[in-house]
Amino acid sequence: NAAVIAIDGPGGAGKGTISRLVAQDLGWHLLDSGALYRLTALAALRRDIEMTDDVALESVARELDVTFVSEDGHTRIMLEGEDVSADIRNEHVGGCASQVAAITGVRDALLARQREFAKTPGLVADGRDMGTVVFPEAPLKIFLTASAEERARRRHDQLRQAGQHASLSSLLKEIEARDARDMQRTVAPLRPAEDAVTIDTTELSIPDVVARIEALLSL
Ligand code: C5P
Repeated sequence: NAAVIAIDGPGGAGKGTISRLVAQDLGWHLLDSGALYRLTALAALRRDIEMTDDVALESVARELDVTFVSEDGHTRIMLEGEDVSADIRNEHVGGCASQVAAITGVRDALLARQREFAKTPGLVADGRDMGTVVFPEAPLKIFLTASAEERARRRHDQLRQAGQHASLSSLLKEIEARDARDMQRTVAPLRPAEDAVTIDTTELSIPDVVARIEALLSL
């Protein structure tokens, strides 16, 4: 059983960046579990499947043909051989991902796939239910949060860097809607594991957060 650091929290709390940096520092594997929900949503959108069609969405998740190709600190995400790294990041796909993620069959279909990432020397797993459902035995569980306003600002910057545009107020609305959906759903609702350490990143720099997590690891 490889060591796992579970990093959960709402969208825009910095999980992606922090997880990547911690994995890089440690030389561990990285699981971006949100990408799997985004990929399921994208594959469904491309097949004109409704985000309410549980049965069809479950089979999309089960048959997902995805490969993660890592190249010097970056991961290219391939869906059926096509690089969709940019396509899965837009807000529409994110919204659909959160709908798809509320379906039990979809979550079950993605479970084994996620657990396969836990390989030596270790795994940094980024998501919503890493500590509660996918890796309940993880020796270190972190719950990253930040105020909704700060998360909207970060998402705004991220999108701008990717050459996309969205207003701060619309991002804030979407973030709040997605949080509500993620926290209120009946399957794997977003919440900290009982043994998770919560870190509020609103006022912290990225290196500060990385250092805190690495300090917890060496305790
Ligand atoms: O983290 P990211 O924004 O890429 O995740 C997209 C959506 O996938 C989230 O809003 C959430 O609904 C869902 N998700 C999830 N469980 C995870 C990771 C993501 O339900 N472990």
